[in-house]
Amino acid sequence: MKQVYTHMDFTHVGHFQSVLEGEGIQTTVRNKNASGVMGEIPFTEVWPELWVLNDSDEEKAQTIIKEFNSSSKSRTAAWTCPKCDSEVDEGFSECWNCGNPAN
Ligand SMILES: [Zn+2]
Repeated sequence: MKQVYTHMDFTHVGHFQSVLEGEGIQTTVRNKNASGVMGEIPFTEVWPELWVLNDSDEEKAQTIIKEFNSSSKSRTAAWTCPKCDSEVDEGFSECWNCGNPAN
């Protein structure tokens, strides 16, 4: 197992988990319920973590996350969801209809 991503906000970690699993990469999330236990453990040590189950998927996973981060910053135009063909307004990184991330 290799850790490929961590973020204090679980929604970011969960988002990349679904992106990677959509690419056929098996993943698991550690510290999923980390938020809400502040006080007992130092906060930075309980961030949710995204791991790939197979070490051989690590490079591919890192590439996907990197490309997604760089493309989402520059994305401003409206786009068409490749999954359900809905028109998605500019500024949205996920399909309003089916939740498919822009890519
Ligand atoms: Zn869609």
